[in-house]
This record gives sequence, C-alpha cells and structure tokens, in this order.
Amino acid sequence: MQYVSTRGRAPVLSFDEAMLTGLARDGGLYVPESVPTLGADDIAALAGLPYEDIAFRIMWPFIGGSFTEAEFRAIIARAYDGFGHAARAPLVQLAPNHFLLELFHGPTLAFKDFAMQLIGQLFEAALSRRGDRVTIIGATSGDTGSAAIEAFRGLDAVDVFILFPKGRVSEVQRRQMTTPSESNVHAIAVEGDFDDCQARVKDLFNDFPFRDRVKLAGVNSINWARVLAQVVYYFSAATTLGAPHRKVSFTVPTGNFGDIFAGYVAQKMGLPIERLVIATNQNDILHRTLVTGAYTKEAVVPSISPSMDIQVSSNFERVLFDAYGRDGDAVSQQMEALSSGGAFTVSQGALEYLRERFDSGRASEPETTATIARTFTETGEVLCPHSAVGVKVAEGHADPSVPMVTLATAHPAKFPDAVQAACGIVPPLPKRMQDLYERPERLTGVANDLGAIEALIEEKISA
Ligand SMILES: *Cc1c(COP(=O)(O)O)cnc(C)c1O
Repeated sequence: MQYVSTRGRAPVLSFDEAMLTGLARDGGLYVPESVPTLGADDIAALAGLPYEDIAFRIMWPFIGGSFTEAEFRAIIARAYDGFGHAARAPLVQLAPNHFLLELFHGPTLAFKDFAMQLIGQLFEAALSRRGDRVTIIGATSGDTGSAAIEAFRGLDAVDVFILFPKGRVSEVQRRQMTTPSESNVHAIAVEGDFDDCQARVKDLFNDFPFRDRVKLAGVNSINWARVLAQVVYYFSAATTLGAPHRKVSFTVPTGNFGDIFAGYVAQKMGLPIERLVIATNQNDILHRTLVTGAYTKEAVVPSISPSMDIQVSSNFERVLFDAYGRDGDAVSQQMEALSSGGAFTVSQGALEYLRERFDSGRASEPETTATIARTFTETGEVLCPHSAVGVKVAEGHADPSVPMVTLATAHPAKFPDAVQAACGIVPPLPKRMQDLYERPERLTGVANDLGAIEALIEEKISA
C-alpha cells in the first residue's frame, strides 16, 4: 500500500514512512492511494471477535509490508493491554435505538488512546529497526497531548514535545501531561489558543532545515496511522449491532475531523453505514460548511467541550481531496485561500459529495449541559461534555429503523467541573489514576513564536 499527499506534490511513501513523516512536505496530508474493501462475509466474520483480532483484520491491508504479520499482531496486543475494559470499546444502550460507544477506557480516558497507544508501539518498532530516533511534536486542545505523552513516555528512540494552549485545558488534562517524570517528555504551555498551537506545529514542519535537523515527526490527528487505528471501532460497534445485515448510523463529536473521517474510511471499506453525523459545539465551522458551502474561519469561543474548540479542522482536507476527485491542485488552492484569507467556498460538486455522506448539527452550551443532566436522569449514564454534544445532535437525527451509535469520546472524570455543574455528580477517576492530583507537575512556558519554540526544542534535546 502506497500513500499520496492531498496536495499531490510530495513523494509517494510506504505506510511506515508516511507514519514517521506526519505532514507531507507539500503541506498536504497522506492518504492511501486506494482504500481496500471487505466483502460482506469478511465483515460478518468480525462479529464477536476480540477487539485486537478485529484491529488486525481491518488494519493489515493498509500496512503493506512495513511489518510482518507476527510483529503487527504483537504491536496491537501491547497497544491495548493497558485498557481498563476487556471489550476495549464497549457499547452501552441509552434509548431503544440509541447506543453509546464508550471510547474512554484507555490510560488517559479519551478515545485518542486508541490511536496513540498503537502509534507509540509502531514508532518504537519502526525506529528500532532503522536504528534511528525522532523528535515528536504535537499540538493539543487537551486530549491528544496527554495521550501522546502516555504513549511515548520512556521510549528510547523518541523525544516528545506537546504544545498546549496555556490555561485552556482542564486540570486533569494538564496533570496528565505534566506529571510523567520521564526525561523524554516535554509539556509546553503556549501563550495562545489551540489554533495557534496547531499553526506553530505546521510552521515547525514547514521549516525544512529545522525539521531535518531535529528529525521532526508528527502524531497529531493528521497522522494517517492515527486515523487508521480509529477505523477499527466503527467495525466492532457496527458488527455487534448486526452489520453487515443491518445498517448502522454514527454521530461523532468533532473538532479536527479525525474521528469522523475514520468512520468515512470504514464506510469506503464496505461497512454499511447509513449516516455519519458531524456533531459540533458552538465552534461550528464544519456544521456551517455543510449547510452553506462556505468554510469560514471565525474566532474560537472557549466551551465546556474544549477538545472540540477548533476552527481549522485539519483532517477535513482529506475528505475534500476525495470530494474534489483527488485533484491535489484544487485542494492546494482552497488551502491557500484559507491561510491567506481565512475562508474558501466548497465547489457545488464537492458540496454534493459531502452532503451525500454526512449530516451535521451543533449543540449550544445550554443544550450540552441539559443533555448531561437529562441523560443522567433517564439512564444513570454520566456523559462528558463532548459526548453530550454528540448525544444531543444524534437525537436530532434519530431514525427508528436504523440504530444510532454516538461516540463517547472522553470519560466524565476528565471534565469534572462541567459535569458537576450539569448534573450534580462529581465523577470519580478510575482507581488506577486516583493519585493524579498529588503527583508533582513539570512544564515549560513559551511565547506564541516560532523562533522561541524552535530554540526551546533544540535546547531540550541536546540536554
Ligand atoms: C479530540 C477530541 C474530540 C474531537 O476529535 P477529532 O478527531 O479532532 O474530531 C472530541 N472529543 C474529545 C474528548 C476529544 O479528545
């Protein structure tokens, strides 16, 4: 399997090269040259298998010689070993035809662990074989960073730097990033918002001399290996609910469009998904784009679902690439318009492509809070604010003939203040993390400035 850039002007790479590279050198994102499909019998055979076996069968066709079968099975086994639930991604029923896919049983209590734990093991295997080492850089609105630090802490071949917006992540998220004591882990508080952090990471990758000098690698949701890992739970959930004999819809709380893009890949692989519903909070650029066709950047308004406080949704470029018939020049033009003027207009044909596959909705702050309260009263289930955005939007897209699965993207204990304000419950941290508030913190502050960030990275890796 080969990987091509969405802007059409970067080298074609293998799976492990694309994974180690992250952002393509033409500024684009890597996608598989073609998506392998599974027949109905192959999909039916997944029902009831352990999560790790489903993961192997779904991801193996994308790996294309980068690892042996035995290596890849061992990598998957190590990746999901630290999860606190035997099913890894259990389904819980909320209403007659509405299910919650709990993706928060990993070590940092958010769905990002599914991809990040795998990518940690993949990086270690690929780098140790090459006798190489890299500097991993990521921007986080909270959950990616803690998941990356947890996945890479203590690995020999990697230094990991995570940029997060100072004062804009929850205390649990911050502590998960600042309390690991391993010297290869660096939590960096940037004076700015998440979009600033993400923009600085892009700048670091576009400074080629710096990028080559420190051997920069990215693990943000633009990394194809992360998207791939997330495809798996769409198959596990849908086959549990009767796929391929019965269609299933999914509602996905969305920020960077990574998680829902994985659902789109699952659909392209042949999983009979009826609707993919994009759920946004008040930072609703994706919802507005589907409604109006205009992708217009606005200021980020902080919400109680901070991991979705995003106005530039990186992975959207991947679906645009398909919507524009895989025309890298067309995608480049749109992305240039976005970076120079803060907006672009999706062509009519591309918009039709998107509307055929996606629905969308937004939940306001009061709606999110009310959904946490009502779901608790009606079911006893305590939702995190991101999952509540999903549940609220899913309810607006209910179809009695098709089961709806809403992705529960974080554990409520990651956002205790918002949850308590909504339903009066202080959700406890799982036992394995109960001393989080006592562990000492370690972080470095930095200005929202490329030069300052580069100097900091070079100083830390030569230390
Ligand atoms: C990252 C995150 C999201 C958004 O996921 P994307 O892949 O960026 O769309 C939603 N909820 C939580 C809890 C997250 O951590």
